[in-house]
Amino acid sequence: MHYLDHAATTPVPSEVARAMALALTENFGNPSAQYELGRQAKALVDQGRCAIAKALDCRPEQVVFTSCGTEGDNWAIRAALYQNRRVGKHIVTTAVEHSAVLQCVKRLEQEGYAASYVKPGRDGRIHAGQIAAALREDTALVSVMLVNNETGAVFPVEGIAALLKDRPALLHTDAVQGFMKIPFTAKSLGADYITLSAHKIGGPKGIGALYIGGQAKNTLPLLFGGGQENGLRPGTEATAQIAGFARAVELRLERWEEIFAHLTACRDYAREKLAAIPGLQFIGPAAAPHILSVSLPGYPSQNIVTELGGKGIYISAGSACHRGKASHVLTAMGLEKKTAAGTVRISFGPETVFADIDALAEALLEHKNNRFPML
Ligand code: PLP
Repeated sequence: MHYLDHAATTPVPSEVARAMALALTENFGNPSAQYELGRQAKALVDQGRCAIAKALDCRPEQVVFTSCGTEGDNWAIRAALYQNRRVGKHIVTTAVEHSAVLQCVKRLEQEGYAASYVKPGRDGRIHAGQIAAALREDTALVSVMLVNNETGAVFPVEGIAALLKDRPALLHTDAVQGFMKIPFTAKSLGADYITLSAHKIGGPKGIGALYIGGQAKNTLPLLFGGGQENGLRPGTEATAQIAGFARAVELRLERWEEIFAHLTACRDYAREKLAAIPGLQFIGPAAAPHILSVSLPGYPSQNIVTELGGKGIYISAGSACHRGKASHVLTAMGLEKKTAAGTVRISFGPETVFADIDALAEALLEHKNNRFPML
């Protein structure tokens, strides 16, 4: 198997699986229980929170566990708008956010909010000046992702935070693809809300975290119930998921520089190998180290993904066609239909070896040589 889809999800290292198994079988108490087993489970949750806080260089109480990145995005957006309900009903975001943000904002438009969607250039980049131009008196929230999940473009969240310094608008960033892939801390980003997800960094699926800091105050709880997560997200804590998330973060943190260098080397090696395929185009700025987006114009990505999948090479259709519709990201970048339809995303992890990339390059070339292009 050649797994080159780490931006979709990642394998769980055995240390992570072990930490989860322990939480399920031995340290299985309810963290709210008032006896030793409960206290041990509570300690697991507290330690997990500290591990995420260490990676963000923030205070543990600024980290709240969620069930996934999608939940974090939806919650942060609604909480920010609630806090700023007297500021106005205008949202600034980008046209290339993950659907967890885009669909939430679309829904809010139906509820009476107004939204401005900033578009990237053909290179996939967005500049802080474009966000500045979209701001209004009544802008209550700016939500801009840190790393785009299709192109690997890195957006200027730090610069946007500086723009908002003397404005009431709160800043949310979906950092799901940036966390432990590019260097940042909660402070360096300057966002009020930062969304994370465990399964993109070797953690389990179904757990994420939301950083709540900066100017975020009296956060609207996501749910109402018991007092867990400081009353902000009640419900018995997912101890095994939290233990796994924390262990994954610790493992990546221990090897952070080595992993960053490895991901960058994989991306650069892939660029070099794939550049030899006639007609292949690179899409986006290749900014984040773990994502490379390429197109074979005229060769539909779905066919490429299926054929390579049959050979045990796993990549994703960058154009993530939903019923034949091209990706909103590639469309917003202004790519020609043929180019967008032929785009695939290749993404790397610590487990990737150059032989995976060699196999991919060979299979892509074979696909191109053996198929007729579609007009
Ligand atoms: N945001 C981005 C940028 C993502 O890439 C993803 C996952 O694909 C999500 C949010 C959603 O995260 P989760 O799968 O944990 O809900």
